[in-house]
Amino acid sequence: MAIARLDGTLEHANAYLCRMLGVRSGEPVELPFNLLEFRVGPGGQDAGEAKYRELRIHSSSGNMLDVLYAVYPLCDDAGVVTHYVHFFQHLGDDRQLERLSRLAFHDNLTGLPNRNLFDDRLARALAVGQRNRSAFALLYIDIDHFKQINDTFGHETGDELLREIAARLVQSVRASDTVARWGGDEFVAILDGVTDQRSAACITSKLLTTCGELYVVRGHEFRITLSVGASFYPRDGHDAALLLERADRAMYEVKARGRNGYCIEESPSDYGLTAA
Ligand code: GH3
Ligand code: MG
Repeated sequence: MAIARLDGTLEHANAYLCRMLGVRSGEPVELPFNLLEFRVGPGGQDAGEAKYRELRIHSSSGNMLDVLYAVYPLCDDAGVVTHYVHFFQHLGDDRQLERLSRLAFHDNLTGLPNRNLFDDRLARALAVGQRNRSAFALLYIDIDHFKQINDTFGHETGDELLREIAARLVQSVRASDTVARWGGDEFVAILDGVTDQRSAACITSKLLTTCGELYVVRGHEFRITLSVGASFYPRDGHDAALLLERADRAMYEVKARGRNGYCIEESPSDYGLTAA
């Protein structure tokens, strides 16, 4: 906690804050930042109505620290604000680790699992499939003509639309399925327990319909279509690379046929739950 005058001059910093910032306690204390920077919140609210918010500050050695911060006015007997009290609560390593882990395993734009997490989910699905002799389907999804949307309406509108499409993809499958952002306008999905082409076609058709409905972003109306390729474990392969390659190839087949649809890679073998 620190108490400062209206112009930001520090009158007192307690031992906790000094320890957290790595500055010498006792008088005078010099903080490694200007307290005035923080006094007005992100919405421009005055300190009197400030709520706790997350801030990244630096210690005297230059390390970045994530903190919860709030500021409150101190008044004299006449009700005139004379000082501000600044509160800092270090979020601690757990919170920092949680945030780092989110960054490492989730896509920043859509919040969906990223490739790292998807690889892990796919490896698990393969392990479960082998142990239980169960099947799953893998979808490779690419938005049609997405570049045109960016080119016409700008990248930020494109970003927002991507977020909405991602949300609809998630809505179209069961909670136990995984939808991840592969990169750009490409997504991948693992449909657990989907053993036959008819079920996969049914889910994909629902997905195409849901994602094809109207979007309104920044006052503009959009409709999009998707090209989706599917492969099946164990029919099309027993490893991640082969399953992805086949689903990707099937997706390109849809693109070649004119987009807006769904395709399963032709497989020479009969479909069925053959042993690994
Ligand atoms: P196609 O029908 O062949 O898929 O054509 P397309 O225009 O969708 O082109 P393609 O899939 O090859 O390229 C994806 C485009 O998506 C390129 C880029 O303009 C856009 N894109 C990729 N990542 C992002 C992103 O993070 N934000 C936005 N706004 N656009 C992106
Ligand atoms: Mg595309």
